[in-house]
Amino acid sequence: MSKLLQYLTERRNDILGDVEDFVTRESPSDDKARMDAFCEFLAGYAKGFGGEVEVIPVKERGNHLRITWGDHSDGEKPILLVGHFDTVWPVGSFGKDPFRIEDGVAYGPGVFDMKGGLVQGFWAIRALRELTDFDRPVVFFCNSDEEVHSFYSRDLIEKEARNARAALVLESSNGGNMTTSRKGVGVYDVEVTGRESHAGSNPFKGVSAVDELARHVLELHSNTDAETGTTVNVGTISGGTRVNVIAGKAKAKVNLRVMDEVEAGRMDAVIRNLKPHHPEALVEVSGGIVRPPMLRSPDVTALYEKAREIATSELGFDALGETKSGGGSDGSFCADVGTPTLDGLGAVGQGAHATHEQIIVDHLPKRAALLARLMQEM
Ligand SMILES: [Zn+2]
Repeated sequence: MSKLLQYLTERRNDILGDVEDFVTRESPSDDKARMDAFCEFLAGYAKGFGGEVEVIPVKERGNHLRITWGDHSDGEKPILLVGHFDTVWPVGSFGKDPFRIEDGVAYGPGVFDMKGGLVQGFWAIRALRELTDFDRPVVFFCNSDEEVHSFYSRDLIEKEARNARAALVLESSNGGNMTTSRKGVGVYDVEVTGRESHAGSNPFKGVSAVDELARHVLELHSNTDAETGTTVNVGTISGGTRVNVIAGKAKAKVNLRVMDEVEAGRMDAVIRNLKPHHPEALVEVSGGIVRPPMLRSPDVTALYEKAREIATSELGFDALGETKSGGGSDGSFCADVGTPTLDGLGAVGQGAHATHEQIIVDHLPKRAALLARLMQEM
């Protein structure tokens, strides 16, 4: 067995203990106090792994953490690790004891997306530092707002990626696969203004914003196309004030997913140029593309092939598959600025953003070993 894998396998329970510690400290994106507390905890944890830490203050969201190892002074391009420590779960979503293990599977808020991956990253570095002479410069960028579109970290991540030799993204891995392409993501608000009126005594004086919005929902959803991979989802709608009032206002939140830039541009225009059906209704659209598509470029496939070679020939993996994901990740930013990027290097499991979110415990050491070996090969 490879020395790195042996070292990590022997520490399986320590790694798992860290995952429990991470998951138990619940950190929903929109809870700044908790996010900042997690960031501080993470800074202390990273120091324990020999990292130098920089807390990056953010007013609107939780603070980010930038961790470095190695000598960054001689111009050698660092390896960039990317992860996020926010989750989609409000505190208490999993009850009072959010973490549990059953039959070798660990459950909890963010265990898969993506605290398991964060822990693997630190242990990969520890193994490299203890067992090898690895002294490459490394930047591990941990952001606090990935689940809310990375509005306050995108520029920072792009800057780190531009400066890096490669970006390794520790996002969750469905079924153990590497993620070699991702859909682009757009988010939009559609606001409709009609004219209120009494539904009984003045039904023809009103302009129903609800009626208007309903037509746009159908129109938007008709753009979903399984063949091209384009999907449009109106995730929330609201409108009107009372059952006997013709609604003066209605609004919707829209999510767009597309496979490539051309389709991103086309659909962005479709959504932004919604025209009112009723001549007196007003339709206002705000928002846009928040994550570019991550394409399966030669850079990406080369990294994937390298990972597969290491996994199957050295680390005893039966196979290492690849997947295209409809979910967004900060890997898209790294790839978009031209940096070789491999995504999905995190924990193996399933159920991101679902209450059955879970990881397979025995994969933790193997995946950390894979990351460590990849970092040596960069
Ligand atoms: Zn994630």
